[in-house]
Amino acid sequence: MSHTYDWVIREASLYDGTGAPPVIADIAIEGGRIAEVGAAGGTARASLDGRGLALSPGFIDVHTHDDFAAVLHPQMEFKLCGGVTTCVVGNCGMGAAPFAEASVMARAFHPHAVLPEWRGYAGYLAQLDAAPPAVNVGVLIGHGTARMAAMGQEVRAPEAKEMARMKAIITEGLEAGALGLSSGLIYDPGRFAGTDELVELASLMRGTGALYATHMRDESTGLLESVNEAIAIGERAGVPVQISHHKASGRSAWGLVRESLQLIERAQARGLGVHADQYPYTAGSTILSAVFRDGKFGGGIGELSAGDVVIASSAARPEWEGKTVVELALAMGCEPEAAATRILAEEPGATVVLHVMSEDDVRTVMRHRSTMIGSDGIPTLEGKPHPRLYGTFARVLGRYARDLGLFPLAEAIYRMTGFPAAKFALEGRGVVKPGAHADLVLFDPERIIDRGTFADPHRAPDGIVSVFVNGVKAVEQGRATGLRPGRALRRATARS
Ligand SMILES: [Zn+2]
Repeated sequence: MSHTYDWVIREASLYDGTGAPPVIADIAIEGGRIAEVGAAGGTARASLDGRGLALSPGFIDVHTHDDFAAVLHPQMEFKLCGGVTTCVVGNCGMGAAPFAEASVMARAFHPHAVLPEWRGYAGYLAQLDAAPPAVNVGVLIGHGTARMAAMGQEVRAPEAKEMARMKAIITEGLEAGALGLSSGLIYDPGRFAGTDELVELASLMRGTGALYATHMRDESTGLLESVNEAIAIGERAGVPVQISHHKASGRSAWGLVRESLQLIERAQARGLGVHADQYPYTAGSTILSAVFRDGKFGGGIGELSAGDVVIASSAARPEWEGKTVVELALAMGCEPEAAATRILAEEPGATVVLHVMSEDDVRTVMRHRSTMIGSDGIPTLEGKPHPRLYGTFARVLGRYARDLGLFPLAEAIYRMTGFPAAKFALEGRGVVKPGAHADLVLFDPERIIDRGTFADPHRAPDGIVSVFVNGVKAVEQGRATGLRPGRALRRATARS
């Protein structure tokens, strides 16, 4: 029977997202899904020559803060042009609802933005349905946002009424289709929560297929205690765990990742579904207020020298962007602590890049089978955001897989496609097979590489040729087509 497909991509080297070695194949797309893999008979309305190129499932960025960017910058070029077709938003305890509390984060990352108001996670997802971004978006419920709504910045355990309010917010999110609950235990007010509170809230997800993702309390010399706490929460609550941006931060913590990886292995052997995500850089990034508190640098990221702290975005004083706190202190004629105090007074939402990790640790974590890739990009498009926002996936493929030989390309692709899709229960995504959603990236495996630098971060990677989202071509010859074929993704097991 002759057949007309929407698209056929011919003779590309197909990496199917399972980690299997590539095969040369034709891929046919129809109605937003993969129709055929192998020799596609019939004709196509459009075709692409894939010879010499790699074709893989679209990359799944499991660690993003794109909750508001997906609404404000629906084109999402900073992700899309790097091959990302799905973003998981709401990480590190910072969720998209309730709106009033969520807006606090929105103002830090998008100071000039005017947002449409939504009600709850259902309202947020409905907003994406009505005005779709270019990429798919799945959501995590933010514990910090829920806690702020229930009890403000109180430094104590919740009272019964406050616990009930947090549970109501989380239950609403789960019923709307959220993929899980995230915590941010270095941030206000997430850090005021004890383990028991997190266990009680995470228990709401038992049996729902949703997971607990955590930016842990201490990623420095307290790393092992923190991993143990994350694992304990998962085991006591009976839910899978995702350790966010696995790292050892600060020189005195370097090397601890070998032990934290063993803790993960042991918990897996006991039956817990515990994994981690990682971005491929030795610098981190967050808000200045989380690493400069009570007049000193530190917090959960270890001892920090002011010379390792670079201002990434500061809408009130863009001239500060790209400068270290030491440089700014010299210019201001004061000590670094006084400079940081003054920066926060003028720009409370200032974000920073922190040079705090060792390359050895980055590679040790990346090689481990528990690690998938997530950018943790901060979409402050007006400043100098950490270049991971654009380059994460291309850098893993080009630098770590191809140039340094950390693992075969097929495995690198698995860690950004089939692996995260399985962990986050993204049905029909992350793999190339008949019936799967046609989220695809066609790239040149010889050329692919990140191009953004800390000084000049707003650069799409090299080597990404075409990107399809739900069967629609969203990137052509490295450039966004302007189409916005993304969808709001709801957990397959959610009640409807
Ligand atoms: Zn985080």
